[in-house]
Amino acid sequence: MPQKMLKFVDVARDMPQKRAAEERREDFGEIYRQYADEKAKEQASRCSQCGVPYCQTHCPLHNNIPDWLKMTAEDRLEEAYAISQATNTFPEICGRICPQDRLCEGNCVIEQSGHGTVTIGSVEKYITDTAWEKGWVKPIVPAQERDASVGIIGAGPGGLAAADFLRRRGYKVTVYDRYDRSGGLLTYGIPGFKLEKDVVMRRNKQLEEGGVKFVLNCNVGEDITFADLRAKHDAVLIATGVYKSRDLGGPGAGLPGIVKALDYLTVSNKLSFGDSVPEYEDGSLNASGKKVVVIGGGDTAMDCVRTAIRQGATSVKCMYRRDRANMPGSQREVQNAEEEGVSFQWLTAPRGFTGDAAVTGVKAIKMRLGPPDATGRQAPEEIEGSDYTEDADLVIKALGFEPEELPKLWGEDGLEVTRWGTIKADHLTHKTALPGVYAVGDIVRGASLVVWAIRDGREAADAIHAELSGAAAVAAE
Ligand code: FAD
Ligand code: SF4
Ligand code: SF4
Repeated sequence: MPQKMLKFVDVARDMPQKRAAEERREDFGEIYRQYADEKAKEQASRCSQCGVPYCQTHCPLHNNIPDWLKMTAEDRLEEAYAISQATNTFPEICGRICPQDRLCEGNCVIEQSGHGTVTIGSVEKYITDTAWEKGWVKPIVPAQERDASVGIIGAGPGGLAAADFLRRRGYKVTVYDRYDRSGGLLTYGIPGFKLEKDVVMRRNKQLEEGGVKFVLNCNVGEDITFADLRAKHDAVLIATGVYKSRDLGGPGAGLPGIVKALDYLTVSNKLSFGDSVPEYEDGSLNASGKKVVVIGGGDTAMDCVRTAIRQGATSVKCMYRRDRANMPGSQREVQNAEEEGVSFQWLTAPRGFTGDAAVTGVKAIKMRLGPPDATGRQAPEEIEGSDYTEDADLVIKALGFEPEELPKLWGEDGLEVTRWGTIKADHLTHKTALPGVYAVGDIVRGASLVVWAIRDGREAADAIHAELSGAAAVAAE
C-alpha cells in the first residue's frame, strides 16, 4: 500500500476556505467552511507521525492526534472519530475555538522545519462534524443505573463535560444554571461567527436525551441555597465560571453608552436564537449606526469588535495599551477583525470619557513600552502630551473577568478561595475544602479556555465516580 502519511514536503498547509470578509460581515455564520473530504484526507496526510508527538503533549486533553490524523488520511473516519471522542467530550467545539496556535499546532514539529503546521483543529472539527452527519455520535446509554446523584452548578463546558462522563456511568445528574439555555459561554459568550449555536445545542440535546436533568433559570444562592443542593445530592460540582467584569474609572466612567463586554455579547447571542431583547431594541446594546470603541486586547475584545461590525456600526476601533505583539488575544482573530474592517489603536490607553447625557468620546493617551517588570512583561508608560479624544457613541469595556465572591454569596465560609477569589481545589481530583464538593473550570483557574474546562470536568467526574462508587470498583472497570 502506498505511504499515506508524511506528505508535508509535497503538500502545503491549507486551512479550510475562509468566506470573503464582505460576505461574513453581513451575518453571524462561521467564517471557515468545512473541508471537503479529499482536502481533509490530504491535510491529515501531512503529519509526520512523530514518535514523541509534541502536539499531543501540548493539547490539554492529550488527544491522540497522530492516530486520528492517520485514520483520516486512510479514509477510516469512523475509527478516527472513535479515537478522537475517547479523550475529548466536545471535539468539534475545540476544533473550532481552541487557540491552536498556542496549543497543539503551535508545537507541531513540521512547523519548525518550515513546512507549516498540520491543521489539527480543522481536521478535528471535520471528523466530529462528519460523525454527527453520519449518525456515529451515539446517544448516552449508561451500562447500569446508580442511585447516587450529583448536582452540578453551571452548564458551561466544565459542568457539561462532567455531566456527560457521570451520566454515562449511570449517576443521576442534575445541572443547575441561572441562564435560560445551557452551554455557559459557549452559548452566550462566544459569538456564532466562531461557534455556531446549533453546534452547542445539539450537544445540550444529547445530554438531555441521555437523562441529564437541567434546571435552568435557577440562580444558586438566590433560587436555591448551596446548602440545600449539598443536602439533595451525594456530590456537588461547582462550575460557575467567572463573571465579574473588570471596570474602568476616570471622569465620565458612568455615562450611558459605556457598557460591559459580556452584556453586549450576551444580547447579541440571544438575538441569534431569535429572542426579542429590549436592550437591543432600545439601542443601548446595539452598535448599529454608531461609532464604537472597544477597550481591551483579549479574545473578548476581538469578539466585541467583530460583533459590532456585523451589527452595522459606522466605525469600530479597538484600543489597547500594549502593542500587537504583546496583546493577549489570538493573532488569528486580530487578522480576521482587520479583514472585516476593524481598526486597532495599539499603545493607547483610556483616561476618561467625554459626554453629557451620553458618552461622545474616549479621552485617550498614547503609550510606549518601558522596561520589563518583575513578570518579564514590558510595562506600558504614558507619553506625556500625547492626549487626544477618540469619538465614540458606544464604548465597550472588555478588560477581563474576575470571580464572584461565592463564599459570601452562598453563605458558605468553609468554601476556601485563593487571594484572587478563585476556588481552592486540588489540581487532580478537583476536591475543594468542603467534603463532597468539587470545583472546575474558570472558577478555579480564572478566565481560561474551553479545553481546560473540559479537562477539569472529566477529571473531576473521575474523582467523583471514585468517591461515590469506591476506589475498588473504579480499579475493576
Ligand atoms: P462558563 O462557560 O462560564 O459557564 C459557567 C456557567 O455557570 C454559566 O452558564 C453561568 O450562567 C452559570 N452560573 C454561574 N453562577 C451561577 C449560579 N450562582 N447559579 C447557577 N448558575 C450559575 N475559550 C476558548 O477556548 N476559545 C475561545 O475562542 C474563547 N472565546 C471566548 C470569548 C468570550 C467572549 C469569553 C468571555 C470567553 C471566551 N473563552 C474562550 C473562554 C471560555 O469560554 C471559558 O474559559 C469557558 O467557557 C469556561 O468554562 P466554565 O464551564 O468554567 O464556565
Ligand atoms: Fe488542539 Fe484543542 Fe483539539 Fe487539543 S482539543 S487537539 S488543543 S484543537
Ligand atoms: Fe503530526 Fe505535527 Fe503531531 Fe508530529 S507534532 S505527530 S507532525 S501533528
